[in-house]
Amino acid sequence: MKNSKKLPDWDLSEYYKGVDDPALEKDMADYTKKAQAFAKSYRGRVNKLEADEFLKALKSLEVLSNLGAKLSGFAYLNQTTKMKDTKATALYQKVVECLNAAGTNLLFFGLEYNKISVAQEKKLLSDTRVKKYQPYLSRMRRFKPYELKEEVETTLLEKDVTSGSAWVRYYEEYMARLSYTVKGKKYNDAEISKLYLSNNPALREAAGKEVNRVCKENSFTVGYIYNMIIKDKATEDEKRGFKRPMSSRNLSENVSDKTVDTLAETVRDNYKNIAWRFYKIKAKLLGVKKIQYWDRNAPLPIEDDKSYSWDDAVETVLKAYKEFSPKLYNIAKDFFDKPWIDAAPKDGKRSGAFCSGPMVTEHPFLMLNFSGKRNDVLTLAHELGHGCHHQLRQKNGVLNETTRMTTEEVASVFGEMLVFQSMLNNAKSNKEKISLLAMKVNDMINTAVRQIAFHFFETRAHEERRQGELSVERLNQIWLEEMKASLGPAVVVDKNSEAIWEQIGHFFFLPFYVYAYSFADCVVNSLYWLKLTGKVKNFEDKYLKLLSQTAIGDYKEIFAPFGFNPEEREFWQGGLNLISYYLDELEKLI
Ligand SMILES: [Zn+2]
Repeated sequence: MKNSKKLPDWDLSEYYKGVDDPALEKDMADYTKKAQAFAKSYRGRVNKLEADEFLKALKSLEVLSNLGAKLSGFAYLNQTTKMKDTKATALYQKVVECLNAAGTNLLFFGLEYNKISVAQEKKLLSDTRVKKYQPYLSRMRRFKPYELKEEVETTLLEKDVTSGSAWVRYYEEYMARLSYTVKGKKYNDAEISKLYLSNNPALREAAGKEVNRVCKENSFTVGYIYNMIIKDKATEDEKRGFKRPMSSRNLSENVSDKTVDTLAETVRDNYKNIAWRFYKIKAKLLGVKKIQYWDRNAPLPIEDDKSYSWDDAVETVLKAYKEFSPKLYNIAKDFFDKPWIDAAPKDGKRSGAFCSGPMVTEHPFLMLNFSGKRNDVLTLAHELGHGCHHQLRQKNGVLNETTRMTTEEVASVFGEMLVFQSMLNNAKSNKEKISLLAMKVNDMINTAVRQIAFHFFETRAHEERRQGELSVERLNQIWLEEMKASLGPAVVVDKNSEAIWEQIGHFFFLPFYVYAYSFADCVVNSLYWLKLTGKVKNFEDKYLKLLSQTAIGDYKEIFAPFGFNPEEREFWQGGLNLISYYLDELEKLI
């Protein structure tokens, strides 16, 4: 590989030449005109459209989606590396406003399509050209059985601003104003959580206790808000006919309640074998008998000072991808041969990393802040996984594609897994191996296990709320019970962490969402376990096919080639076995 001293920059000129490109204004005007024309042609007529005309409408929607994605994609990506450039941020704002205003012309289509009869829908879908859009069309219809009369829907929507959404907004604004003081210094929410990663145990303890103290100080308000959010959701769920509190979330993910129950129960049955065991090891590595609640993610005294040049990183990642699958490698290689990655940290550039593919039918871009640490290499592997996942989905088309949280992270975490495993294989010393394994298992437990403990907390809170309001003391008690059950005897769980649930934003703004993190991680682990055990023939091809279907396929069907059914425990147990296997390795090394 050639030795490039400079980190790559992306080149967005295939979208637009820059913020002053006259094509931007032209396309915004064009989008608005096309959206208005669409409404003029089809509003009020969707139920009368024959297949030919219906298809024409779908094609127009595709054109509009692509154009909108091109505009907003450019404006967004361009400003992420130029946050201090007022022209870049102003363009982004302008594009968003233009698309929102023009987009109101398109809303009727979904609403009207939802009202057409089953017979009419069947007739349309009997045309093979329309049938290609089935994933998109059935997504629009999925909520139909739970819809209420139009005037009720309108009232709910209008009242939402002062009920459900109002409580969420109050929660977010209220929490954002809280401040924490540690050793005389003030911190906000994001800042204080970084103290948990400090090498200094006293600082971690001070942060942990302070967060709990602030939560307790605000318990009355936050507990009140949580009760309101739960009740508001229960009222609406009941009217719509959802059987269980998690059912509406599962429907939007297109996952059965049974699948989620099986996942959650299987993870819970593995608490002892995985989390309890890990924290015992962690306590030993930290040189204490028991670790404190806030020490779960504390760094180990074993240093990792290995650093990577950009070329090292690219080589490490591509090599691991290639060893797994030459086909995946070929897709991945493009990202380095073409100007699709912006890798260097820069003044005015956003922090973190992401993969963004605004246009479904075009390649995505990767944004990184590469500084040569081991984690940066894993992040590259992660974002590249997203990039390849996107490339494999292009053929589904812009309308059929969507974001499905439960599998959106599969390719990325799997890519990270490949690179992690190759780092582990190449580790020179036991110290390095221990550090790698402990880091990985720590992460895996945070995602696969901890999020399920959260899931049980919210499930119990929603169930008990049916009998009446829950006191803060009761919520704290449920929290402590779930934390104790999942963390085990090597972690101190007591009054010093009883009110921390108030900080889990997802409980408030996206109820029953937390399991999705565990779902995705467990899917990756289960697949990776299958790869390791070599039980599935042609694993590579089956895996790549799976990636192309994650957004549009039925989970039972798309996992079938692996011989698994997500409604059965065996599927999930395989992934948990992988964590347990890494723990065995870790125990052997210590
Ligand atoms: Zn990701």
